[in-house]
Amino acid sequence: MTEILKGKPVIDKLNVRLKCECEELKKSGLYPTIAIVRVGENADDITYERSAEKCCCEAGVRVRKFTFGESISQDEFLSCIQRINNDKDIHGALILRPLPQHIDDRTVCRTLSPDKDIDGITEYSMAGVYSDKPVGFAPCTAEACIDMLEHYGIEIAGKRAVVVGRSFVVGKPAAMMLLKRNATVTICHTKTKNLAQICRSADILVVAIGHAKMITSEYLSEGQTIIDIGINVDENGKICGDVDSKSAEGLAHAITPVPGGIGRITTAVLAKHAVEACRRLSCK
Ligand code: NDP
Repeated sequence: MTEILKGKPVIDKLNVRLKCECEELKKSGLYPTIAIVRVGENADDITYERSAEKCCCEAGVRVRKFTFGESISQDEFLSCIQRINNDKDIHGALILRPLPQHIDDRTVCRTLSPDKDIDGITEYSMAGVYSDKPVGFAPCTAEACIDMLEHYGIEIAGKRAVVVGRSFVVGKPAAMMLLKRNATVTICHTKTKNLAQICRSADILVVAIGHAKMITSEYLSEGQTIIDIGINVDENGKICGDVDSKSAEGLAHAITPVPGGIGRITTAVLAKHAVEACRRLSCK
């Protein structure tokens, strides 16, 4: 039988730890706090903001919101990021992206203080992911994959991992994090030949492509652990992953559900990073 790797038990366990850590920090007068920065009224951004707020609240992390209209200039936006950098009571920032076109994403990422980059968007955090330096924070979704595998006791070392998708937000950091844990990793993308065959060879198959139910039985083989990162809307208007979960049933060893899998853990990882950022800043 295929095990369903639900996100909730992972979060529940993490939250117990985070609540204790928050209580400890509060005894020293520190209250882990994040800034959520949003421009405009994009529905996906608002959903993610709500989910992040809920998760932080459950973990004991305080949230301060900075919301702007689409007409905000780049200079005004950068001053907001500078204010967050200089505010000792804010320990981390989540900047909802993509930003409007007139605000240069790279300039924003370079302006954010690396100490407060709990979402893994600065070059400093990337250096941490792509090197052995223990600096910065990994992108939350990539770390959620690792947390999921570790929570359910799925061995990574020595396994063959195939990651489909190579974005800087998900695919590449997930691949690097699996590699650091001694998996043998293959990264696939739109130019990959024989994608189905490569996917079938995986012990751990991580899919982050953004195509509803594209990964069907021809891409799967018996006994795999499947991490489905995709969040899509199917033909019936329902949320679904990149993997056709029906094809995996009975064949895979385990699979993450969508919704209720990696997406749920992603915001909990943000809260985890906020607590860690608070601790690191307090030691400076
Ligand atoms: P991007 O569009 O940035 O990247 C998609 C990647 O998938 C690209 O590398 C692309 O290859 C590859 N790809 C697309 N189509 C195919 C195909 N047919 N065959 C092989 N490779 C393909 O998306 P993201 O990485 O940002 O997101 C991926 C998915 O994950 C989306 O569904 C998104 O909603 C979801 N997501 C979920 C999160 C969560 O918290 N659960 C957080 C972030 C994203 P190429 O580079 O060649 O173009």
